[in-house]
Amino acid sequence: MTNILYDGVFAPHAASDKVFLFTPNGDVSFAVFTQMTNRLANCLVENGMQSGDRVAVQAEKSVTQLALYAATIKAGGVYLPLNTGYTPHELDYFVGDAKPAIVVAADSVSAAIAPLTESIGASLLTLNADETGSLTQQADTASPDFVTVARGSEDLGAILYTSGTTGRSKGAKLCHRNLLSNAEVLAESWQFSGDDVLLHMLPIYHTHGLFVASNLLCMVGGSMIFLPKFSAADALAWMPQATSMMGVPTFYTRLLDAPEFTREAAIHMRLFISGSAPLLAETHVQFEERTGKMILERYGMTETNMSISNPYEGARIAGTVGKPLPGVEIRIADAETGAPVAPGEIGIIEQRGDNVFLGYWEMPEKTSESFRNDGFFITGDMAQQNADGYITIVGRDKDLIISGGLNVYPKEIEGLIDEYHGVLESAVIGVPHRDFGEAVVAVIVSSDGPLDTDAIRASLAGRIAKFKQPKAVILADALPRNTMGKVQKAELRKTHADLFA
Ligand code: AMP
Repeated sequence: MTNILYDGVFAPHAASDKVFLFTPNGDVSFAVFTQMTNRLANCLVENGMQSGDRVAVQAEKSVTQLALYAATIKAGGVYLPLNTGYTPHELDYFVGDAKPAIVVAADSVSAAIAPLTESIGASLLTLNADETGSLTQQADTASPDFVTVARGSEDLGAILYTSGTTGRSKGAKLCHRNLLSNAEVLAESWQFSGDDVLLHMLPIYHTHGLFVASNLLCMVGGSMIFLPKFSAADALAWMPQATSMMGVPTFYTRLLDAPEFTREAAIHMRLFISGSAPLLAETHVQFEERTGKMILERYGMTETNMSISNPYEGARIAGTVGKPLPGVEIRIADAETGAPVAPGEIGIIEQRGDNVFLGYWEMPEKTSESFRNDGFFITGDMAQQNADGYITIVGRDKDLIISGGLNVYPKEIEGLIDEYHGVLESAVIGVPHRDFGEAVVAVIVSSDGPLDTDAIRASLAGRIAKFKQPKAVILADALPRNTMGKVQKAELRKTHADLFA
């Protein structure tokens, strides 16, 4: 009997006494993790989960939650993690849409979602931040043995709802082949081995912390320093024990803000990886100046797992996300036709390979709109590829501004504004405008003290065409970001929608 993902990721070191997870509450060996997994798998089955059923989980990051993911896979289920920021009202949508057999949530929200779970006949179990709740209570008395349920490469292993900048959030269906193949590709490309100890401070309801980090380290038999969330102080305290770290760009900017983060503090680290949102070229350069090491930036998305990466050996180029990973076919294509654009031109990233998801849960139309006839998935990210094959992301297609009929790529303007002395960061958006359709607007955060917005506009005047120059420059205390560090441009567009109305 085979279970592609469990056998590939969790089984190889399942009996080992080596530490898999270092946590502030103590160490957890692979063997103990396997026992937890088995008890939880028995508990899922006892609560009515059958092969192919969804298990929806909204819980604070914990070892039990990671084991619950492994247990769901082992018992043949489909793991469905939910952002801890969702309100009970939002949970109703996900639970109603995915119709899980089991819902796991904190005691504090269980009363609010009980009527819905009851109406769809799902079992409701609780798991709190301190790992108490009915799930662990039942698991404690369950058998520590469990026979793995068979699942094939095309069977679903997980559904992850995308953050959804427009419209309803969509459930990306990921099969065992998608998840295992990506872990294998990343282990080889980034040279992960059993000697690695990864500093893990990411949430585990998202592809980055759950699949990229956890599948990978478990598969190679490495260890993780498994912390509830990021703080620069915790990162610095645990870093001496680590060999590698994965983070979103804000982890790196916060580390650079800490004077204790020195060359010595990082000297033993083999690898720093960044992704999920653009890493400013400036952060990349500052990081190298401070530590002598270059961050490895990679690109991926929930639907495609990781697909483009700077190299482990060879030049890691600031501002680019690198080249296609092995087995991933990438084309930079015309948004309308899907035909490849000329080298150096801007187009949409389209991709095909074992990494690409099966489609959106119960959304056949959205799924077919998102794929070309030849099987390429249209990511919606705009990019250009240089003659050496390195790819630079220029923004989401939905963030593209069309002013007076001309295309304006926000990243180009943001890059110029960010060079201005005293600018910490910027976001360039399009807002409705009577004459131009859309007007270019720059929202800017200063690094220290007041900024002269007229001077910033003047500095751009000689450098970019008139139609690209911001018609308004607005100072803000901070840019709105989600938990993965992505700037929420839709929110900014809403805030400033009436500027030229
Ligand atoms: P998610 O599905 O939440 O992982 O979000 C995926 C999106 O994050 C992609 O479609 C990109 O827009 C963005 N993204 C991920 N990695 C990078 C990166 N290295 N640089 C720029 N954008 C990125």
